Amino acid sequence: MTLRIGIIGCGGIGQEHARRLHFKLAGAQVVAINDINLAAATQFSEMSGIKARVLDSDQAVIDAPDVDALVVASWGPAHEEQVLACIKAGKPVFCEKPLAVTAEGARRIVDAEVQAGKKLVQVGFMRRYDAGYRALKATLDAGTVGDALLVHAAHRNPAVPEMYVGDMSITDTFIHEIDVFRWLLDDDYVSVQVIEGRKTRNAHAGLHDPITVLLETRQGIRIDTEIYVACRFGYDIQCHVVGETGVASLPEPMSVPLRSNARQGSGILMDWKLRFIDSYDVELQDWIEATVRGEVNGPDAWDGYVASVTAEACIEARKTKQILPIALPERPAFYARQG
Ligand code: NAP
Repeated sequence: MTLRIGIIGCGGIGQEHARRLHFKLAGAQVVAINDINLAAATQFSEMSGIKARVLDSDQAVIDAPDVDALVVASWGPAHEEQVLACIKAGKPVFCEKPLAVTAEGARRIVDAEVQAGKKLVQVGFMRRYDAGYRALKATLDAGTVGDALLVHAAHRNPAVPEMYVGDMSITDTFIHEIDVFRWLLDDDYVSVQVIEGRKTRNAHAGLHDPITVLLETRQGIRIDTEIYVACRFGYDIQCHVVGETGVASLPEPMSVPLRSNARQGSGILMDWKLRFIDSYDVELQDWIEATVRGEVNGPDAWDGYVASVTAEACIEARKTKQILPIALPERPAFYARQG
């Protein structure tokens, strides 16, 4: 069966997802698209060769009888309404992060999905599909370094644009770590502290950079993450899990080691898009196959909700300079962990 897909939002990631779904992955076809900028959507549909119908509203794409499933890649504030409309229409939806821009909004999606009685929503936390993180998780699950005690992590980016300000280092950047550590450790968070240290002269006026986020999990695992988005030298994702009998680290992306010009070393990526490019393919192929089976296999609405609650706690902890509890309700049975 070919899954017929409607795309809502044809900006950067929407275009990339549309191309990979239509041309690269198996079992899917993009049949309808919408963007708030209809001219841009029309141009994309033609120029990309997808030649899908361009419909004049997001709701029209959701309602189209030949659309089996939706990809929401519009800007964050539109996600909640669009995902709720997909649930109302009973159609599966892959929503790029964030699921909603507030925890309350994400909770409304959880409640609507539970009410509908069927899991329909997957959130675009693609790190769970990265080969490196999967290898690290397999190592931890096998007990190779014993129980996890500590995690030392870093999310470094060479530079960010002027529009990247304030708490975007949490809502746009750290949100990926928030999701992936829970999955990696099979745990949830209980408290957070955010520390603003010395500011780099490379950060623009609206941004305090770097910051350190300290999370504590239910099992007592302590996670420190450096978020440094004006680091200049590369897009560098680090994750080292200290266990009882050893340390397991996220593998570095493949790069040819060099001995040259009286130095030895290897390259560091500069573009975030390249770091997880393979994981987008794995993520969406898995989504297509699970959707055809009538399942949600990846990060679900509950994971999107937990990420929003945690991000809000991080923002509050940063503002108050306090260690704050992260209050999460019990995971509903509807969202029971699989496997
Ligand atoms: P973008 O380039 O700004 O694209 C968003 C597109 O959606 C724009 O074309 C925008 O039109 C359109 N849009 C805005 N409101 C809309 C609405 N109500 N209905 C339909 N279309 C609407 O942003 P992006 O980088 O693609 O990011 C899109 C989403 O994906 C964001 O939530 C972002 O956080 C997420 N994302 C995730 C990853 C990841 O690694 N998982 C990577 C990148 C982005 P206008 O430009 O005319 O407003």
